[in-house]
Amino acid sequence: MNWGIIALLLLLSLASANCVWSLGKVMLFPQESDTAYVQLTPKKPLNFQAFTLCMRMSSELNSNRETILFAYRTSQADELNVWRELGGYSLYLRSSDDGVTFNLPPLTAVPTHLCVTWESSTGATAFWVNGRRSMLKIYRRGFSLTPNGAIILGQDADSYLGGFEKKQSFVGEITDVHMWDMVLGAGQIKQMYEDQCRSPNGNVLDWNSLQYKISGNVVEVSGPAA
Ligand code: CA
Ligand code: CA
Repeated sequence: MNWGIIALLLLLSLASANCVWSLGKVMLFPQESDTAYVQLTPKKPLNFQAFTLCMRMSSELNSNRETILFAYRTSQADELNVWRELGGYSLYLRSSDDGVTFNLPPLTAVPTHLCVTWESSTGATAFWVNGRRSMLKIYRRGFSLTPNGAIILGQDADSYLGGFEKKQSFVGEITDVHMWDMVLGAGQIKQMYEDQCRSPNGNVLDWNSLQYKISGNVVEVSGPAA
């Protein structure tokens, strides 16, 4: 084997499929709107009793108003919402007035890697910011998610794929959205933040092989991932 072939094999082994594909897709929401959103198609129904949801995001909206980060809604209810609110990051499971909020630093123009983990058996809930876990809080012990809703980025739905409010919309960049039907370990979440080339792919949402549909003014940007 000559040095050229060895070098090529080395390059191929370093450039894992994950890394190549994660260079491809950033969803940019350039301005406030009540029309721009991306609907994500999950690989399996959201009928589970635990999850890990991760995303990489940049936004300058900060603390001026509440901002939707992730919305999963059935025709009946807001089933799983993640918000940036005045007091921090919040998770709401089938409720609009009884969420759990964690006092954490706001998003900035430089990407933040954000995860939220929850498990029904204990209710243990945590946010993870750039690989570091918040304190645990107990929320919705014994709860199960209901399947057959719509997952969207960019807007908070108050009906099925509708009822959007401009003042709740997301403005900024979202990429690397992954979701699992289990709670990942601390090491896996830390690795996802530190090395996206070797991070695990979600078994419910996998940004690297995602089916999605863009509506309104969302710009899909290709380029070096942050
Ligand atoms: Ca709303
Ligand atoms: Ca809503």
